[in-house]
Amino acid sequence: QLRHCCAPECKETFATAGRPFPRCAGCGILCYCSRECQKSAWKHAKAPHKEVCPKLRVLHERTNLPQKQVPDRF
Ligand SMILES: [Zn+2]
Ligand SMILES: [Zn+2]
Repeated sequence: QLRHCCAPECKETFATAGRPFPRCAGCGILCYCSRECQKSAWKHAKAPHKEVCPKLRVLHERTNLPQKQVPDRF
């Protein structure tokens, strides 16, 4: 299970923030510490989440695995 902000340049974790982060509404897998992080990750120049989000969603729905078995980096 992911316990860190998934924005590429962000180092926030549940531990450093003292709270869990909301998950991406699209894939339900990645989570971000703030709307700014979600926005920047969605439109990231090198690895935009908007390109992997639908694939993650399909993977998530098809396998229905516990989140700990989903790779935490892409
Ligand atoms: Zn997503
Ligand atoms: Zn963040």
